[in-house]
Amino acid sequence: MRSVTVNASTPYEVVIGAGLSGKIGEYLARLGRKGKVMIVTDSHVAPLYAEGVADELVYRGFEPSIYTFDAGEESKTLKTYGEILAFLAEEEFSRTDTVLALGGGVTGDMAGFAAATYMRGVAFVNMPTTLLAAIDSSVGGKTAVDLPQGKNLVGAFYQPSLVLFDTDFMKTLPYDEIRNGLGEGVKYAVLEGGAIFDILSEGLTSENLEDFIYLCVDAKRRIVEADEKEGGKRKLLNLGHTVAHAVETLTEFVVPHGVAVAYGVRVMARLASQRGELPEEEFYKIEELLLSNDLGLELNPIEELIPHFVADKKRAGDRLTLVTIAGIGDCRLTEIPVAEAGAYFMVE
Ligand code: ADP
Ligand code: ZN
Repeated sequence: MRSVTVNASTPYEVVIGAGLSGKIGEYLARLGRKGKVMIVTDSHVAPLYAEGVADELVYRGFEPSIYTFDAGEESKTLKTYGEILAFLAEEEFSRTDTVLALGGGVTGDMAGFAAATYMRGVAFVNMPTTLLAAIDSSVGGKTAVDLPQGKNLVGAFYQPSLVLFDTDFMKTLPYDEIRNGLGEGVKYAVLEGGAIFDILSEGLTSENLEDFIYLCVDAKRRIVEADEKEGGKRKLLNLGHTVAHAVETLTEFVVPHGVAVAYGVRVMARLASQRGELPEEEFYKIEELLLSNDLGLELNPIEELIPHFVADKKRAGDRLTLVTIAGIGDCRLTEIPVAEAGAYFMVE
C-alpha cells in the first residue's frame, strides 16, 4: 500500500494498493463520515464492483445507494448531472452525507461536479477504476461535465476528501483502456524522468503498477500543490495536450485522450530535436518508450494540427503556451505568438 497526502486548499489522502476497496468503509469512518453514501458508477463498472463496495459500506454502518448511468463520454452531460442531483434530493441527502465516484474519468468528473454543487457542496470520495483516472483526473480537484459545444465547459475546482485506488480493479480493464492510461503515463515519464521513465521503459506489470501510480500521483501532487488553479506551473501537465486536443477535434474523439497525448509528446519531442533543443540520445529514448508501449503512432500531420492550436482553450489572448522538452525530466513553458505557430512547428 502506498499513500500520498495532497496539501491542496483542503488536504486529502490518495491511497493506492491491492484489495483496498474492501476497506473503503474503514477509510470513510476514519474521516469521520457517517450516514448516506451515493455510489455513482457506470453500466460497465456497476456489475463488477458496485455491490462489493455497497456491502462493505453497510458492514461499516453506512447507508449506501447506487446511481448507475450508461458508460461512455456521451453520458457526461448536464442531463445526467441533473439526474444525479435529483436522485440525491429524492434520497434526502444532506450536507453531512457523501458522494462516492466508482469508475473512470467520466464518472469522477461528473460525480465530483454533482458533489461540488449539491447543497453548495457535500463530501466527495473518488475511487478511480481506470489507469488514466488513477494517475491523472482523480488528483487535482477538477470536476466537470460537457456541453454540446465542447468538453468540460461546465465545472468547478472541488477537492475530494479521499481518493482510493484498488489496483485489483485493473484486472478487468480492457487493453485499450490500459493503453490509454499509458499514453498519459508517457507524459509523466517525460516530465519527470527518473523512476517513472524507467518503469514505463521496462513495461508496466502487476509488480510495478502500485509504484508507478504512486510516482505519477506524487508528481501531480507536487505540481498542483504549487499551483492549484492553473496560474503557471500546473500548465506543465499540459505536455502533449495542445497537439492532443487538435487530434481529438480532427478525429471527432475517435482517438482516445491518452493515445492522443502520447502522440502529442512524440510531436513535441520531434520538434525539440529538430530545433536542436533536445539531445539526440534523449529523443531516441522517448521514441523507444513510445514504441515499446504500443504508442508509436503517426496520427494527423502537423500542417493539419496547427490551425486548431488557435482554438486551444489554454490560449491566453494571442499567445500560446507550449510545453517544450529540453530533456527527459526537463520540460519548460514556452510562450509564442499564435501567429508564429506555423513557423515554430515547421522546422526543417
Ligand atoms: P477514462 O477513465 O478513460 O477517462 P471512462 O470513465 O469513460 O474513461 O472509462 C473508460 C471505459 O472503461 C468505460 O467504458 C468504463 O465503463 C470502463 N471501465 C472503467 N473501469 C473499468 C474496470 N476496472 N474494468 C472494466 N471496465 C472499466
Ligand atoms: Zn490529459
